[in-house]
Amino acid sequence: MSLVMIIEDEEPLAMLLRYNLEKEGFEVATVANGLNAVSEVERLMPSVILLDWMLPEVSGIEICKMIRSKPDIKNIPIIMLTAKGQEEDKVRGLGAGADDYVTKPFSVPELMARVKTNMRRAPLFEEKEKVIVFDDITMDLSERKVFRNGHLLHLSPTEFRLLKMLIKEPGKVFSREVLLKSVWGENIFVESRTVDVHIRRLRKSLNQYGPDYIRTVRANGYSIDKNTLPDNDDEKEDEI
Ligand code: CA
Repeated sequence: MSLVMIIEDEEPLAMLLRYNLEKEGFEVATVANGLNAVSEVERLMPSVILLDWMLPEVSGIEICKMIRSKPDIKNIPIIMLTAKGQEEDKVRGLGAGADDYVTKPFSVPELMARVKTNMRRAPLFEEKEKVIVFDDITMDLSERKVFRNGHLLHLSPTEFRLLKMLIKEPGKVFSREVLLKSVWGENIFVESRTVDVHIRRLRKSLNQYGPDYIRTVRANGYSIDKNTLPDNDDEKEDEI
């Protein structure tokens, strides 16, 4: 599923956009503040960004320039949303690296059409590996799909990000704190127990079609590893 990120401080507008994008079948993430915007883009790797020009703290233009300067995210299409309709502003927006430009108030169908067009045009961002393979597990990052032994797994976006984090560095142990920070983000408060709950769900999905490769390192965290230890069942007995 394709993720659209809305960077917009006007909550009613962000909600309207979310509603319409979800109706079109997109996954949606919203960011209301310019300060968090770039780190959220790096964390979630959206397929398209809707970026408001007038944001608190950091302007849309600045965010656009920052995104374009970072190799991992610079190819993500950006559609600027703005009340400024003047020609010189449009030129400035496109000069800062925006792919498209929509002036408020805009028609929702038109914006939806532009999202789809920009998504098609996107050279599915040059993530170094589009596909990550770990033994019988295959993650297709551009399609956001996971297969095990040829079976498609139905993972939530959170479980997908957790697996991606683990699978990129097999054998490395990630603490709950590190996983929380990179999967949920710095500014979101969740208990570290939440990590355990999502790991359990991820395990359940993965283990339908193969052995348990997620290793629980007691009091430490998690890793993905083919040499699972015999005492690896410590997480399995407790259900919430
Ligand atoms: Ca605004």
